[in-house]
Amino acid sequence: MQSLITRFLFVLFIFQFQSITFAQTGETMPSAFLTPFEKNNNTTATYHEAIDIYKKLARQHPQLELREYGSTDSGFSLHLAILSTNGNFDADSLRSSETQILMINNGIHPGEPCGVDASMLLLKDYLEKEELQKYLEKTVIVIIPLYNIGGALNRNSTTRANQNGPESYGFRGNAQNLDLNRDFIKCDSKNAQTFNQIFAEWQPDVFIDNHTSNGADYQYKLTLVTTQHNKLDPNLAKYLNKEMLPHLYGEMAKTEYEMTPYVYARSTPDEGIAGFLDLPRYSSGYAALFNSISFMPETHMLKPFKDRVESVRIFMDRMIKLMHIDHKKIQSARKKAIENTKTKNKFELNWVLNMENPEKINFKGFEAKYKPSEITGHSRLYYDRNAPYEKEIPFFNNYVSTLNVTKPEAYIVPQANHEVIQRLQWNGVEMQKLTEDIELEVELYKIEDFKTTDYAYEGHYLHSKLKVKKSTQKWLFRKGDYVVFTNQPANRYIVETLEPQAPDSFFSWNFFDGILMQKEYFSSYVFEDLAAKYLEENPELRARLEKKKAEDEKFAASTRTQLNFVYQNSPWHEKTHRVYPVGRLIQKIDLPIE
Ligand SMILES: [Zn+2]
Repeated sequence: MQSLITRFLFVLFIFQFQSITFAQTGETMPSAFLTPFEKNNNTTATYHEAIDIYKKLARQHPQLELREYGSTDSGFSLHLAILSTNGNFDADSLRSSETQILMINNGIHPGEPCGVDASMLLLKDYLEKEELQKYLEKTVIVIIPLYNIGGALNRNSTTRANQNGPESYGFRGNAQNLDLNRDFIKCDSKNAQTFNQIFAEWQPDVFIDNHTSNGADYQYKLTLVTTQHNKLDPNLAKYLNKEMLPHLYGEMAKTEYEMTPYVYARSTPDEGIAGFLDLPRYSSGYAALFNSISFMPETHMLKPFKDRVESVRIFMDRMIKLMHIDHKKIQSARKKAIENTKTKNKFELNWVLNMENPEKINFKGFEAKYKPSEITGHSRLYYDRNAPYEKEIPFFNNYVSTLNVTKPEAYIVPQANHEVIQRLQWNGVEMQKLTEDIELEVELYKIEDFKTTDYAYEGHYLHSKLKVKKSTQKWLFRKGDYVVFTNQPANRYIVETLEPQAPDSFFSWNFFDGILMQKEYFSSYVFEDLAAKYLEENPELRARLEKKKAEDEKFAASTRTQLNFVYQNSPWHEKTHRVYPVGRLIQKIDLPIE
C-alpha cells in the first residue's frame, strides 16, 4: 500500500503532466470524448474500450485513480477506479476519517452490461459537473469497470436469447466458464480471489452489483434485489426498510424509471412475488456478511438498452445523493452493526421463506394470457402489452432461520486445510498460529448424513441437508494450526463458512471432502478373532450386537455387516472418519499462539 504522501505527490504529478498535455494539444477540460454507448445507444463498451475510457478519465481528473489489483482467469488484471475528491485514495485512512464507501461492481454477467456503460456516464457526471461535487464530500466511490473480463472477451450477439439489445455483448461464464455470481465464497476464479481482497480492503458501506433480469414481462424498466433484510443486522435492516428503500423507490418514481422489487415469481407476478434469498455465494449476500447494505439492480431485459442504462445510472446517482444526506445515519447504523457482530453469541443460519402474512405492494404488470403455441400446438403463456394493469399483489419478503449456532470462543483450523486458510486471509480474518502441539478439549462435528448434487454445480458437487452430531473431545492440534477468535468484524463470514451445516460453508463447497472417505478397512477372517476377544471384554457392545441381530433380519443375515458394526465401535476404526476437523474451542483458555 502506498503512503498517503506518495499518493498525493503522484496525484500532483499527474495533474501537472495533464496541464502540459492540454497546453500542448489545445484540448480543453472537460473530456471531449464520448463512450460507445453515447455514440450509439444500443452499444455497450468492449472490455478494452471500457478500460481505455477509465484510463482517459483518470489522466484528465486527479480525483480519479485507476488501480490494477490482482489477476483474473482471463490473464488481465482486475481494475478498480477510485473517485475521491479530496485526493485521499487510502481505504484505511478514508474509513478512519468517517468517509463512507460506495462500491459498484459491473459486468459480472457480461451479457447484462447496463452497469458497465452506466458507471462511465455516472463517473463523467461526477467528475465534470460542478453542482455534483458537494455529494462527494463524505463519500468515495469505488468502481470495478468490468468484473468478468473473460466473459466480456467472449463477445457475441446471440447468448441472451430473451434480451432486447445491445447489438453485441459478452457471455455469462467467465474464462473458466464459471458463473462469478456463485463464486464469492468458494473462489474458484482468480476474479473472486481478487474481489475478496478488494472488498476486505475497502469494506464498503453500500454495495451495488449491476444486472439485467430474465423472467416475466411487466411495465417496469428497473427492478431491485435488496439484500434479504432478515439476514441483515437489525440496525442496518431498520435503516434499510424504514428509510433507505422508501427514499430510493420514491426518488425513482419521480423519474420515468419507477422501480419495483425484483420480480421473483413462482408463476406469473400477479400471483405474488418473493424476496430473493441472497446466499453468501451471491455478491449481495457476500457483502451482507460484512454489514454492507447491498443491492443487485436488475434492469428489464425486454426494455430498450438505452432505458436500461439510463435507469441504472439514475439509480446509482440517487444512491450517491441519499448517502450524502444520510451519511450520519448510515455511519451510525454500520458502527452498531459491526459492534454487534463482534460481540453477539448466536448466529442464525439456513433461512427459509415464510409464506405467512405477506406484504401487499402495488404492481404495474401486463396481463398474463394463454394462446395456442405455433411450435407445439399446446397452450402457451404470453404477456399482453396492450393490457397493462395496476393492482396489489402479495410480496413474500420474510425469511426465518432454521438453525441457530452459538459461536465458540475460537475455531481451530488445521494448517492442512490451506485453501480454507487462504480464503480466510483474503477476507481479512484475523488468525493466530499455535506455537506448539497441544491437546485441546474442543467440540467436534461428526458428519452423520448429507446429500450431494449428482451433477457438477459451478465446478463442485455441492453438499446440503447435513445431519451432524456434536461431541466434546480431547483433540490434538499441531504447531502451525490456526486459531480464529470470534471477536471480529468478520464473525459472520467466519461462522457462515466454518459451520459445516451452512449452505455456503466450506464443507458444503467440498473443501473437506477428504474426511468423507474411510481410509483403512479389515479382512473379515483376521478381524473375527480380534472382534470375538473385544466383545468378550466389552459385554455392553455384545448386548447391542445381539439386540440388533434380534431386531434386524437383514443385519442378522450378513456376516460382513455384523463384523463392520463391531469394527466401527472398536478402537481399530479410524477416529477421523467423517469428523469435521475444525475444532470449536468453547472455554476461554490461554493458548500458546503467535
Ligand atoms: Zn445477472
